[in-house]
Amino acid sequence: MTSFDDQQTALKEDTENIKCPSCGGNTEFDPASGGLKCPFCSHEIPIEATFDQNVELDFKKAGTDLNHLWKDDVRVFSCGNCGAESVLDANVVADFCSFCGSSHIAVTEHDAGIAPGLVIPFHISKEEAHAKFQDWIKGHFFAPTKLKETYRLNKISGAYLPYWTYDSKTFSHYVVRVGNYYYVTETRTVYEDGKPRTVTEQVRKIRWHQQSGNYRKFFDDVLIKASTTVDAKLLQNVQPFQLAGLTDYKTEYMSGFLAERYSVSLQQGFKKAQDYMEQRIVNGIEGSVAGDIVEVVNVSTDYSDITYKHLLLPLWISSFQFNQKVYQFIVNGQSGKVAGNYPLSFVKIALVSIGVLIVIFIVYLLIQG
Ligand SMILES: [Zn+2]
Ligand SMILES: [Zn+2]
Repeated sequence: MTSFDDQQTALKEDTENIKCPSCGGNTEFDPASGGLKCPFCSHEIPIEATFDQNVELDFKKAGTDLNHLWKDDVRVFSCGNCGAESVLDANVVADFCSFCGSSHIAVTEHDAGIAPGLVIPFHISKEEAHAKFQDWIKGHFFAPTKLKETYRLNKISGAYLPYWTYDSKTFSHYVVRVGNYYYVTETRTVYEDGKPRTVTEQVRKIRWHQQSGNYRKFFDDVLIKASTTVDAKLLQNVQPFQLAGLTDYKTEYMSGFLAERYSVSLQQGFKKAQDYMEQRIVNGIEGSVAGDIVEVVNVSTDYSDITYKHLLLPLWISSFQFNQKVYQFIVNGQSGKVAGNYPLSFVKIALVSIGVLIVIFIVYLLIQG
């Protein structure tokens, strides 16, 4: 028979976490030092940040190369409320969904898919994010008590958001309509006081012709968001992320944090990247063809040597539901920029309004008296 202590030891040995050498506890990534830190005895283990130059992966081979998939040291939790999928260290259990605040979250058999190649580690600590949350709440008196409850419960998580970047060579064949200006001298007769007079003037005309040609362009790191769970407008407000801060992904960066599993697939992401590239190609053709007016009639583009990278960008997030709607407060984990939305509390607005009316009434009585 094994004792409880033995079982605990066995459990600990099973985990992939890096153990604290002085007390055996699970260390966590520490944004302040950029290394691992033991939450029990504060022992620090540095992480050697590396920058692999060959991180571009072949788009056509994606999914078949097992080296680039998440290993079984992570599990996927799915939210029954908002559908967000969170990737967590295999020995950690999620008890609420970071993206909507719901506790309707359970581990699934879903595979975590393509693993990240690069990450911007958190620079902002949980304490800093929490302080920013507190400041933000103070500035929003009309927010409902529910929001303050979320804050009090310390429901703020460090989540890495998934992004794709794509590189591609493009070769486009185009047909354009080109208009060139020319001027003709026209004379016409005008009548002044009933007398005819001949007026000569230069009139601008356009001569059109159609032409075709080829256009080449290389695209480097077209960035596409692979998350749909964070309010797009809020995310816009905490941009930018400095991509110069990217470093090779290491499991250590996940310790104490979670990653959202991409909900935009690699292929769907590439479609979005193509929309962006197509627009840039059209603009490029318009700029490169000589003519006073250039209208693109048709473009067909061949994409080749497509490569991709899977990135994780850091975000502190606190979410809650109010009247069936999800509200979020987010902090850029790299820069500390904040954004949030919240419902107005009509009870508070009503109470304040009544209060203001009472004050006006009293002032009125005093003036009258
Ligand atoms: Zn320790
Ligand atoms: Zn959720």
